[in-house]
Amino acid sequence: MGSAADSASSGSDVLFHRLESVHLRPRPVDAYSVFATLSIGCISMLYLRLYFLPRDQSRPPFNPPAAIQANEVMYECLSPAEAAAVRLAQRNSASEPATEVTPMVPGTSGEAFSAPLVNRCYRDQCAGRWKPPRTRHCSLCRTCRSGFDHHCAIFANCLTAPHIPSFLSLLLCTPPTVGLLISPMMLPLLRRTRKAWAIACVDEGIRVRWWNWKPSWVIAAGPMGRWAGGLILGWKALDRVDGGGAYGEVRLKIGVLVFLGLLLSAVCLALAYATIQVILDGHLTVDRERARTHSRARASVLALQQQGRPVPSGLMEQMERYAERRWFFVPVTHGPSDGVIVPTLPIDRAYDLGRKRNWALIMGKGWGWVLPWNAVRRGMDMRAVCQWPIAGGTEIWLRLNAERTIIISAAEWASESE
Ligand SMILES: [Zn+2]
Ligand SMILES: [Zn+2]
Repeated sequence: MGSAADSASSGSDVLFHRLESVHLRPRPVDAYSVFATLSIGCISMLYLRLYFLPRDQSRPPFNPPAAIQANEVMYECLSPAEAAAVRLAQRNSASEPATEVTPMVPGTSGEAFSAPLVNRCYRDQCAGRWKPPRTRHCSLCRTCRSGFDHHCAIFANCLTAPHIPSFLSLLLCTPPTVGLLISPMMLPLLRRTRKAWAIACVDEGIRVRWWNWKPSWVIAAGPMGRWAGGLILGWKALDRVDGGGAYGEVRLKIGVLVFLGLLLSAVCLALAYATIQVILDGHLTVDRERARTHSRARASVLALQQQGRPVPSGLMEQMERYAERRWFFVPVTHGPSDGVIVPTLPIDRAYDLGRKRNWALIMGKGWGWVLPWNAVRRGMDMRAVCQWPIAGGTEIWLRLNAERTIIISAAEWASESE
């Protein structure tokens, strides 16, 4: 009995040791599997988060906050000309008799003193919804989005300022994940590529069917495509001989897959770089495109003017439409009215707070946003997005201009009443 029990216990010991030595000791391959799974999990989480954003994400409230409605704070409003057009359209649709707009200061006819109107959107389901600064109507989502950057086809959703940390984290986490996944295959695949290229260069069949075949220039669209085509044919020829390695690990399909992974990583890095530049510059992607359109139109207008040729009205309209000039209602406590409507300079970037603050506003402080679980919790809250902070320099300019307008109008009023 004793010997049977001993042998049983020694048998379990051996089994235990074997299990311990085989399964319980951490091996590099285990660490690799854990990291690879975690990385794929992280980027999947970020992608799904952006894909399944609610339909009404970043939609501004229907009416502006009470402080704006009561004209107690500085805010971006319609220009007097735009406000007049909106009032006229409203009167026409209500078929009311035409009445003059009562200025906020009786006795003045100045546009600066007419009651300010906030921008509103009447397209699709917006139906008169408040359109805060940096809000755009997405024609694909059929709604307005505050802090709109661009509509992304890959997420089938709009990318807006509150979700830029998740977007950037996804872009920056993808290349290391791809790198980790393909790292064990890189060396064998590189060797295989070299071998396939050598075959492509010497194989008689490939020479006749590809290199000497004239239409290959058209099909492959130039020398780069022809080299790629030759390489693929060489690789195929190799696969036919050895089946693509002992496990098929270096066959053409795997090579193409790894190449696509590298291409995806390169695209992600380029997009991340562009996004970082846009944020630092105090733009959102849509603003940058508008600024570029404006510069192009301005350059064309200047060129035509220098040549003494007439400037088409469409070009002038385009230049005006994409200009940076914005109008603000500036509250004044000591003046004759609640406040004054003043424009910024045509080139002034009212929401460019300087690189450091532009970055901190959207991404938060520090580098914590790089980690996916931080990125999904970061991002501007909707209050800040709807009332985007105005640059200090612009604010000073607007206040000085408001004071100037009051002084000039008071002097005009005094001279008229004399
Ligand atoms: Zn809208
Ligand atoms: Zn959209």
